[in-house]
Amino acid sequence: MKKKIAILGSTGSIGKSTLEVISKDKKNFEIVLLTANNNYKKLIQQAKQFKAKNVLIKNHKYYLNVKKSLKKTKVYYGNASLKKIFKKKIDYTMSAIVGIAGLKPTLESIKCSKVVAIANKESIICGWNIISKFANKYKTKILPIDSEHFSIMELTKNISDSEVEEIIITASGGPFLNLPIKKLNKVKPAQAAKHPNWKMGKKISIDSSNMMNKVFEIIEAHKLFKFSRTKYKIIIHPQSYVHSIIRFKNGLIKMILYNTDMKIPIFNTLYTDKKKILKTSNIQFEKLNKLNFKKVNLKLFPSVRILDKIFTLGPSAPIIMNAANEVLVDLFLKKKINFLDIVKYINKIFKDKSFNKYAKMNPSSIKDIKIADNWARLKTASMCVK
Ligand code: NDP
Repeated sequence: MKKKIAILGSTGSIGKSTLEVISKDKKNFEIVLLTANNNYKKLIQQAKQFKAKNVLIKNHKYYLNVKKSLKKTKVYYGNASLKKIFKKKIDYTMSAIVGIAGLKPTLESIKCSKVVAIANKESIICGWNIISKFANKYKTKILPIDSEHFSIMELTKNISDSEVEEIIITASGGPFLNLPIKKLNKVKPAQAAKHPNWKMGKKISIDSSNMMNKVFEIIEAHKLFKFSRTKYKIIIHPQSYVHSIIRFKNGLIKMILYNTDMKIPIFNTLYTDKKKILKTSNIQFEKLNKLNFKKVNLKLFPSVRILDKIFTLGPSAPIIMNAANEVLVDLFLKKKINFLDIVKYINKIFKDKSFNKYAKMNPSSIKDIKIADNWARLKTASMCVK
């Protein structure tokens, strides 16, 4: 029987990598849904190539373009409910929309998919309470795709908190690792979006360049796993071959190494059959002679200091930080603010007189998340208007 697969955000970096893995083994997969926001041309091409049963284009403006081009595929738009698209549970959903926009579709997919692989870290950071509740209720397996979290999951199967001393998440350091600090405020969006080791979507590339991505990843790990939050550390590892390291209390250290290729975690969540071979470029062992690790320079990456306080600011503080960051990254990409303003304004919002009111809210529904998220977006935008 073919595995029925849905990809939310199929036109993005993770979505395309997922389809690339599937393209090597088409006979075992049936694409039952592909979705995009605006990129209707790519969506049409993917739907034709993979004979997708259904597609969803978020922006209504492109609905007719998609509809006219796809005669054999059902076409939906906007917030069409996944429950209506699928009559019964499908096998696997890749949640790869960027930003909080991915939360609602991720939650819907939990109701109608046996496995939901989540790349959309913003959903985990903001909506983990609801995601985990839904996963229990609908008996859905959640698998992290972020390479660090995928690695922690692999390294800590059947391991309890009491056995673990430290959980180290590696960071490449991004494009500005060796830049003199005084030049940081002059960096352009194109420089920040150019990651030295990966090609990713724009938003996560900017988050990587100032290490907000690591702040998100520590919160994400804290939500996903049962380990005490003080055990998580970040270390700079520019080659990015090692994804996570666990230091055990018994003196052992275990780490996971693999090429800087998201197809590896994707492949391993798509297949439960461990005998399947992933044809990808392997790490040449000579390269491992040159592995470097170093401490994070907090002057170069002041975002990391946010981790000292974010867990004490209230249950909705990550939602506020995420929303502010989405607005600020967008403003930076539009050249309306400078690079260092991103972290500066995030710290400013923590000091706003209304911050506590929203941060202390315990979010138990999408509505609650939206209240904190909307406030943070409006506040951030108003702070940046000169
Ligand atoms: P991209 O920007 O490349 O792709 C985002 C996808 O989401 C596209 O299909 C896009 O459609 C769609 N999309 C964007 N906005 C909306 C919206 N408002 N509603 C519905 N769909 C939308 O992102 P990435 O693939 O790089 O990242 C996706 C997620 O995975 C992010 O949360 C990121 O942090 C996470 N991640 C990514 C990694 C990577 O290597 N890229 C690694 C680890 C995690 P369209 O093309 O039409 O704009």
